[in-house]
Amino acid sequence: PYRLDEQIRESILSLHNQWEEKNLTMTIDLDSTVLYANEDLLNQVWINLLDNAIKYSEQDGQIIVHLKDSKDSVEIIIEDTGIGIPSEKLNIIFERFFQVDGSRFSSGNGLGLAIVKRIIDNHEGTIEYQSELGDGTKVIITLPHKKIEHSK
Ligand code: ATP
Ligand code: MG
Repeated sequence: PYRLDEQIRESILSLHNQWEEKNLTMTIDLDSTVLYANEDLLNQVWINLLDNAIKYSEQDGQIIVHLKDSKDSVEIIIEDTGIGIPSEKLNIIFERFFQVDGSRFSSGNGLGLAIVKRIIDNHEGTIEYQSELGDGTKVIITLPHKKIEHSK
C-alpha cells in the first residue's frame, strides 16, 4: 500500500529549501489516501511536478496542492502562480527535451514531464495541463483505485 498523502507531503518537504528560497507560499489540502502503486515511480511524479512548479515561479508566488479521494479514483491538483505555458505549447510539453525557453532556465533538460507522463500512463491515470502565458499553471492528475485480484 502506498500512502499517497504522506508521500506527497514528504516530497514537498524534501524540496523545502527551493521553495523557501523563493519565499513561495505552499498551501496543502490532502485527503488521507491509500493506493496500490509503485512507490519509487509515483514519488518521481510528485518531485518532478513540484520541481517545475517551484522552478517556473517567481519570488513570493503561491503553490497549491490538493488531493481529493473518491470511490473509484483520486484527483491530485498542483497549481502555481508562475510564468505559465503558452497555450500553443501545451500539447508538446510531454515530449522529451522540449522546453518552452531552454536558454532562460539553465537547469534541467526537458525530460521531467516525459518521465511523468510515462509513469502516469503506466498507472492507467490521466494528466492534464491548464495554463496561459503569464497566468500560472494548473496540473490535474487522476489515478484509479485499482481492484486487487486474488488478494486473499
Ligand atoms: P527537467 O524536468 O528535465 O529538469 P524541465 O523542467 O525544463 O527539465 P520538463 O519538466 O519536462 O522539463 O518541462 C518541460 C517544459 O515545460 C519546461 O522546460 C517549461 O518550459 C514548461 N513547464 C513545465 N512545467 C511548468 C510550470 N509549472 N510552469 C511553467 N512552465 C512549465
Ligand atoms: Mg522539470
